[in-house]
Amino acid sequence: MRKLRTTHTATTPNAKYAMPKTPEQHAPKPWRFVSSLLGQGSKEILGQQERRDNVLTIAPIGFVVALLFSLFNTLLAPYPLLGAIEAASALLLLLPAIRLARRGQHLRWAENLLMLCGVVVFGALVVVGGVGGTGLFWAYSFPFMAFFIKGQRKGWLWSGLFLLEVGVLLLALRGTPLAYPYDPVQIPHYLSSLLFVSVIAACFNLLRSRFQEKLHEGVLANTATAQHYLDQLQFLALHDPVTKLPNRTRILPLLQDEIRQAQSRHGGLLVIAMRLSRLPEISNIIGSDATNELMQAITGTLHQLLGEGGMLARIAREELLVIFHMRKPQFDLEKTTQMVGSYNLDFEIRGFPVHIDYTAGIAVYPRHGASAEELLHKAEQSMLQALQHGQSATMYDASQDEAFIRYHYRFGRLRDAMAQNQLTQHFQPLINIRTGKLVAAEALARWFDPEEGFISPLEFIPIAESSGLIKPLTRWTIREALHQCALWQTDFPGVAVSVNLSVRSLFDTELLPMLRQLLQETGINPALVRLEVTESLMLSSPEKGMAILHEIVALGVRLAIDDYGTGFSSLGYLKHLPVQELKIDQRFISKLVDDRGNMAIVESTIDLAHHLGLMVVAEGIEDQETMQQLWLLGCDIGQGYYYSKPMPIDDYLSWCHHYQQQQLLGPLAGVDGDADGTAML
Ligand code: C2E
Ligand code: MG
Ligand code: MG
Repeated sequence: MRKLRTTHTATTPNAKYAMPKTPEQHAPKPWRFVSSLLGQGSKEILGQQERRDNVLTIAPIGFVVALLFSLFNTLLAPYPLLGAIEAASALLLLLPAIRLARRGQHLRWAENLLMLCGVVVFGALVVVGGVGGTGLFWAYSFPFMAFFIKGQRKGWLWSGLFLLEVGVLLLALRGTPLAYPYDPVQIPHYLSSLLFVSVIAACFNLLRSRFQEKLHEGVLANTATAQHYLDQLQFLALHDPVTKLPNRTRILPLLQDEIRQAQSRHGGLLVIAMRLSRLPEISNIIGSDATNELMQAITGTLHQLLGEGGMLARIAREELLVIFHMRKPQFDLEKTTQMVGSYNLDFEIRGFPVHIDYTAGIAVYPRHGASAEELLHKAEQSMLQALQHGQSATMYDASQDEAFIRYHYRFGRLRDAMAQNQLTQHFQPLINIRTGKLVAAEALARWFDPEEGFISPLEFIPIAESSGLIKPLTRWTIREALHQCALWQTDFPGVAVSVNLSVRSLFDTELLPMLRQLLQETGINPALVRLEVTESLMLSSPEKGMAILHEIVALGVRLAIDDYGTGFSSLGYLKHLPVQELKIDQRFISKLVDDRGNMAIVESTIDLAHHLGLMVVAEGIEDQETMQQLWLLGCDIGQGYYYSKPMPIDDYLSWCHHYQQQQLLGPLAGVDGDADGTAML
């Protein structure tokens, strides 16, 4: 596996790039200056390019000047020897120096040729003297050139060489026609002033190069600081700041690399999109710093699991991408899916136990695609499918594409329908099997889409549940149902209302305040409100779920377990829940009479529930025979097409009137109208 950057140095850019002090910098100041003047501790700050530019600036100018002087000295002034030396130096020394510098080769030699030309031409100028002995003045420019071109230390070398040359020549040729302009007595003065000029040139060059050095250091430090921030910005643009993992932008090219490598080793890849559940809720409780720690712990665990065999990325706030190498391109998809969905992510963050649920979608290279985008897209698509079906892991399945598109189309339409108040409510009566009295009505959501017609809640409730629309939907259902119940109390006092409560809605922080406010607003007896929850509730978050259920019961509202028998919980387990009713799922009721197994289950459930003090409701009663059988088994309440299908509110109210009249005529009493509103008890 690639190594991911996990740490970041905390050094400030300036501290990081500060220059260490040299031993010379510790010496006393005057000595420090003298030793710098002599070239001690001088740095090579001129790069190849600058040195090349220097040669290419000075040498061509020198070339032209030397040729012009050569012409002048040969033709106009009577110094043919000087002219010849100048012409020869220009052609034999400066031209090669220019050519070497142009090619960028042997720069040192180009510089040396330039210096040699200076030594020869200036030396000749001094010795010959030229017009009025002015040749000597040219010699004074040599040290400046030497220090500039060769730097502090070698500048002295060349200046010394030049001084020596001039001294030896002047003294040797003293009194000869070659050195005629000079008074021999003055020669030591000339030489000492040349030495003095060399010191000045060295000082000048030292100051110039120090200034340049400082400028260079400043530029370096600024560039380094800028580079540091640029690196940081680049890192942040491509990584998650908390886990330091690659983000979505970065992981795509990395995944493409992985695909290439898998291709060359004839292997496969698992691309797993992993949505971490309830991260915002957890963050609300433990705080954002602790959540960051949690994220680091999660990714640390996944890194350990992956070892060298994969890669990890954080592609969204609650979403990770795991890339896992498979040795072979073919493998058991079902087993792999099971394995991916079976990890336990339990952590202890700051002494707080945290369990992380996740939903994973898997795409496989080469089976599901050969491009990073395609695999990522399919992994995320199957993750949404897993979410939709409440599974912990799903392998990408092309046949699900259509269902997926339909799901999202429906999601959009459901969201619009809710925004435009297009959902309605139907009510289905619940009857006391022993007395025949109407005791309650279950409120069931209905959606009529103008384009697609009636859409079953079995289809749209799961869409709402997996998309977060369920919270506003449930709030609307409860508000609507309680208002209707309050209204029908005038004609049918004591008839309760039952509302389905999805697990996600139970954890809606607005649920309890809303219930409290609605009970106050409508003045309804809380015992007339029943909330139906499913067994799955306790599987997801038992402790928190239990606490909320207790708060609901404390309001006086009743609780029922819906669809009992479809989950995994036992009655023994349910006795710990603060529920008062049990609704046996219709799959046991619809085939009750013919199926002895169902009969046994229903009978023992009723028995046990009664022993636990629970009322039993049978849903899905479609005929009289079933109703009578349930009566014999001691079931308390019935619901089903036998009594009535769910109806719009007006039809339901008419049905109630009609049913009441029938009951008055019949042997059993009609609508139960206990003043305290506890018709079901
Ligand atoms: P549920 O809560 O178990 O509701 C009972 C379902 O059984 C209703 O289906 C009802 O029409 C149907 N039913 C009642 N008697 C019979 C019968 O004798 N035979 C047959 N075959 N079916 C019968 P519906 O209205 O389609 O609702 C299906 C499920 O959708 C509900 O099951 C409930 O889980 C969910 N649901 C409906 N409305 C809401 C809602 O407002 N909120 C939430 N969270 N879920 C809802
Ligand atoms: Mg129900
Ligand atoms: Mg049910």
